[in-house]
Amino acid sequence: MLIDSHSHLYMGSWFKNLDVVLERAKEHGIGKIICPGIDIDSSWQSLMIAKNHPNVYAAAGIHPHDASNAPADYINQLRDILTQPKIVALGEIGLDYYRNISDAATQRKVFRKQLQLAKEMDLPVIIHNRNADADIIHLFQQVSPFRGVAHCFTSDLTTAKIFLDMGFYISFAGNLTYRNSDLPAVAEAIPLDRLLIETDAPFLSPMPYRSKENEPSRLKYIADKLAECQGVSYDIIEMTTQNNAEKLFNLPKS
Ligand SMILES: [Zn+2]
Ligand SMILES: [Zn+2]
Repeated sequence: MLIDSHSHLYMGSWFKNLDVVLERAKEHGIGKIICPGIDIDSSWQSLMIAKNHPNVYAAAGIHPHDASNAPADYINQLRDILTQPKIVALGEIGLDYYRNISDAATQRKVFRKQLQLAKEMDLPVIIHNRNADADIIHLFQQVSPFRGVAHCFTSDLTTAKIFLDMGFYISFAGNLTYRNSDLPAVAEAIPLDRLLIETDAPFLSPMPYRSKENEPSRLKYIADKLAECQGVSYDIIEMTTQNNAEKLFNLPKS
């Protein structure tokens, strides 16, 4: 089966028809989906979706865009969510210096506190990183050690190697399939046992659906491209990314 390691199921315009979208994903071979939060409300919402759908698992966290709007007691609120069944990670969290929706100092503070919480609760982290390689690596070194995934990887191979050395998985999204992308050369060099795939739905639809609203059923296009980058069969990518996701997020084997 394919595992969509990152899909915002509460964000699509198709949310009102979520059952249909999840059924279509199943028909396209997607056996499990991880739904990460971006703030307190969406983290609860992810958990509710996971509770209502056996094949969905949830993560809770404050996204860097939402860092400056986090309530004062967000760590305690996250702790409450993170102790619930079907929570498999803390995320998504990180730094985004591309859009800078929250100011950088607040992003760093909220990120650091959540890394400490992940360590305290022994949970893997789902990392969002845009143009912030150096600061993310610096904060990992301060709070380490960690288990986690660099989601929607967009950095270069040097950064990928630092993440790998720290024990992280690297997850590729639809932008791997875009023409003129530098990502295939990075994907080619990642060891098979550290690769994950994701749709990041409703964003980043893979080719041939680029710029349309994304949904989990399109994950196979990313698996296909990753197989091409790695020079292995689709079946190998399917099997190894399933094993990797089950291991990192401690999912029940199936
Ligand atoms: Zn993200
Ligand atoms: Zn995301």
